[in-house]
Amino acid sequence: MHHPSEEMIFDYATGALDEAWALAIATHLSLCPACRAAAREVEAIGGSLLEAAVPTEMADGSYEAVMARLDFVDAMPPAEVRSITEPKPSYVLPEPLRQYAGGDVSEIRWRALGGGAAQCILSPPSSKTVARLLRIPAGRPVPEHSHRGTELTLVLAGAFADSTGHYARGDLQEADADLLHQPRAAEGEDCICLAVTDAPLSFRALLPRLAQRYLRI
Ligand SMILES: [Zn+2]
Repeated sequence: MHHPSEEMIFDYATGALDEAWALAIATHLSLCPACRAAAREVEAIGGSLLEAAVPTEMADGSYEAVMARLDFVDAMPPAEVRSITEPKPSYVLPEPLRQYAGGDVSEIRWRALGGGAAQCILSPPSSKTVARLLRIPAGRPVPEHSHRGTELTLVLAGAFADSTGHYARGDLQEADADLLHQPRAAEGEDCICLAVTDAPLSFRALLPRLAQRYLRI
């Protein structure tokens, strides 16, 4: 499985991530027991540090931030237990994301991106960091692009592959400005991803470049 970096998990668990990044990490955690355990460890350490260092005065609401994260992770049912006691969950979008998106995939209002692909932007228009759901038709490529900033892509259904590897449900790819890639959806099932970006992508071809302003991609 492809996981977020330790830095990302640390920042998530200490409440340092912006909302859109936190959404991607929280969704990965709901699908990945290993990272969930790592995040809990950071929170436990963070909690004991705070107890030792801040007995009377809370700095910058950081204590509340850590506690809010703790509540959030604790609210997630352990996936191992769920898979034993219940049949396979029928939701495509795991809980933190489903709540954010206002429903499961069938309720998403997709907007065409061209080439059969579609997106649904989840972030408010004012947000610099943009979280979106992407749907890429089975077997089709995404236009080749590179990144001016960071792009996190979390697979929720189907799979995609690029020069860095194969990504299926739960896998998270972190791409930075150095990566030029052309992800291609695997055959058989449309690939649905949560993608988070903090800067517009750079497309090589003209048409996607023209569409960028309109599509906020
Ligand atoms: Zn993980």
